Amino acid sequence: MTQVTFAKLKKITPQVRYCAKQENISALQLSKKIANGQAVIFSSSLGRTKHICAVGSGLKTKVNVNIGASTDKSDVGLELKKLRESINLKADTVMDLSVGESIDKMLQLILRNSSIPVGTVPIYQAASIAEKKKGSFLKMDVDTIFKSLETQAKQGVDFFTIHCGITKESLSVLKKSRRLIPMVSRGGAIISAWMKAQNKENPFFEYFDDILDLAFKYDIVLSLGDGLRPGAIADATDAAQIKELKVLGQLVTRARAKDVQVIVEGPGHVPLNQIEKNILLEKKFCKNAPFYVLGPLVCDVASGYDHITAAIGGALAAFYGADFLCYVTPAEHLRHPTLEDVRDGLIASRIAAHSADIAKGIKDANLWDNQMSYARNKRNWKKLISLSIDPEKSSKLRHSIRPKDLKTCTMCGKYCSMKLIERCLN
Ligand code: SF4
Repeated sequence: MTQVTFAKLKKITPQVRYCAKQENISALQLSKKIANGQAVIFSSSLGRTKHICAVGSGLKTKVNVNIGASTDKSDVGLELKKLRESINLKADTVMDLSVGESIDKMLQLILRNSSIPVGTVPIYQAASIAEKKKGSFLKMDVDTIFKSLETQAKQGVDFFTIHCGITKESLSVLKKSRRLIPMVSRGGAIISAWMKAQNKENPFFEYFDDILDLAFKYDIVLSLGDGLRPGAIADATDAAQIKELKVLGQLVTRARAKDVQVIVEGPGHVPLNQIEKNILLEKKFCKNAPFYVLGPLVCDVASGYDHITAAIGGALAAFYGADFLCYVTPAEHLRHPTLEDVRDGLIASRIAAHSADIAKGIKDANLWDNQMSYARNKRNWKKLISLSIDPEKSSKLRHSIRPKDLKTCTMCGKYCSMKLIERCLN
């Protein structure tokens, strides 16, 4: 049974009750959203995760952090530090995107140490097994892919990204496109290369019903990956992206018929003026399934600052109805992220999510801001620092230069507007 089954039976589960409390809405309201597919709860039936969360329409915008080893940089200790820092800075979920040799050990440790939901891209593990056993991921067999899904499900993973929208047909649309960058999705590229080498249909598409059975058994949320997401603003909202989105919409219907919780992944690189359209298209083709956007990055030239590009796009996307933001770090497109990169990316994404929540009227989202403004006006530095989204950084900045008057800061000193006006008005 999944959360959808219980919701359809009008049974309020402890998970729904817990998440509804976090959202400041009634359990019945959340349960209805789950029953009709507008929201999901990341909580594998194995019950590993302490701080589960719900994602979907009318709920607070959630933020995911990606961590994990690459083939060039594999340091288990560092990735665990990133995990701890992400939890500390209030990430809602974490994805282990490890590839390469340490993939199994990394996932085990991340699952053991994560109190928040964990997602994976199981094709990475299958590819790594095929590399070890057969010398190439192109020789991977379908059985290995399914074994990876099952192994990770049994370990307690809460959500899987599966690139099931890449089909022979959608790849033929891609082939005819004039994209600046044909594909940027790692999972999408692995599957596409495998399909070409084996001359077979995408197994995630072909055997989708088997994946649904597994997801149902462990109540794993399926995150339908966007292998054809645009990786350049010139490629945004093109025929290949829309073709894949329509396929994902059909798969959403099939998942719902089997009571499997499902969300849909989205772009990528999208100019500001196309963000609203992208959200509306996803909601239309995927029947209001929660939308998980990877950015979107609103220009292509901000290397070194792509956490900002993504926060701009993420704020607007969430305002128009995206439900879940995947963070982007300043290291995007340049290197494997450091701990500092993860910090900067997560804070930027949380700012985007919270800003959108205020603007779209999520219940009581602005209370935090009002408390902050009150503390700021009183120049109550202790309170101001504790309320800030990154207290550590606020404290460091405040204490880096000592003001002459402790009731002001070194920005305006004796001309502190708030202090001057306080005297005027009293
Ligand atoms: S000195 Fe200026 S910047 Fe600092 S608290 Fe006063 S008004 Fe704000």
